[in-house]
Amino acid sequence: MKTVSMCPVCFCEIAAETCLKDGKVIMHKTCPVHGDFSGIVEVDPAFYLESLRGYRPIYPGHLVDVTDQCNLKCKYCYHENNALNIPTFAEIIRECSVNNGPYILSGGEPTLRNDLFDLLEEINRLPDSGQTTRSSYVLTNGHATKDRLYLLNLHRLAGIGLSFHEEGQDDFAATIEHCISQRIKLESVFFVIDDLAQVEGVVKWAREHPTIANTIRVKCASDVWSTTGTNKIYASQVLKEFMKHGETLISEAYKSSYVPILFEGINMAIISWYDVTNVDLLDIAMPPTYTAKNGETCDFLKAMLINQGIKSGWMKGRKNQHK
Ligand code: SF4
Ligand SMILES: [Zn+2]
Repeated sequence: MKTVSMCPVCFCEIAAETCLKDGKVIMHKTCPVHGDFSGIVEVDPAFYLESLRGYRPIYPGHLVDVTDQCNLKCKYCYHENNALNIPTFAEIIRECSVNNGPYILSGGEPTLRNDLFDLLEEINRLPDSGQTTRSSYVLTNGHATKDRLYLLNLHRLAGIGLSFHEEGQDDFAATIEHCISQRIKLESVFFVIDDLAQVEGVVKWAREHPTIANTIRVKCASDVWSTTGTNKIYASQVLKEFMKHGETLISEAYKSSYVPILFEGINMAIISWYDVTNVDLLDIAMPPTYTAKNGETCDFLKAMLINQGIKSGWMKGRKNQHK
């Protein structure tokens, strides 16, 4: 199948083709300057071919980094740590007002902003608000929501996506306890895995908290932007691992990188993003959107890869003078 990908050296967009070889789905591509490259797109061809059927959305919205600061330093963080860029209130409102919601406030750790509630109130007043049940979401590691009152106030203004990180597990556990006692339903709970054996722990947690969130997301660590050196795990492998533990159904049309599932009746999603070696830019050209460091607003993953190129000294095939 023909598509568009990126050169892993200079990050320019180049034609690419996927084909079946040795029981895998392989992407081949050629950069006019840096030569031939190939990468594995999926290790299960049948799963991949089935993923090409039908329209396969990810989820709607625009991601906005409201701070580069974080209270943690996790092993896998796509965000560029140590960069202390804190956008102003007005810059964030402007970014939201020129993009379609819902607005997903991320970072860094958004709750480190003292004006977060004011920001959410302003965002919720934007004309785009009201088109969805929630017009804004906040992704947090539980840093401030370990405080019950803070959690209640935040929940009044926005949906909450809670991420589990070993480095912040006490805050995560406290937030979950409050959610149970206050009957708060989270928008999502998010786990990162770098080993298939970790699926067992997610299964155990999901069975203990089957109704705590609208979706439990399981994301495979991937080599995107600030995270490198991971052992790529493919979505089909995670799916098979879930199947070993209990009834697992693919709940709707899926992508090879984003698979909504029902595990024993619990809404979950398996995520294994492309990286620069195997990215299919046509497959992911859809929301959620994000603004890359060159000012381009596009799908979240492409924006991350543009940032990765800039970080490594390249922007779309040209040497970047301003690293
Ligand atoms: S909590 Fe999130 S933003 Fe903070 S270091 Fe961990 S992964 Fe990165
Ligand atoms: Zn190149």
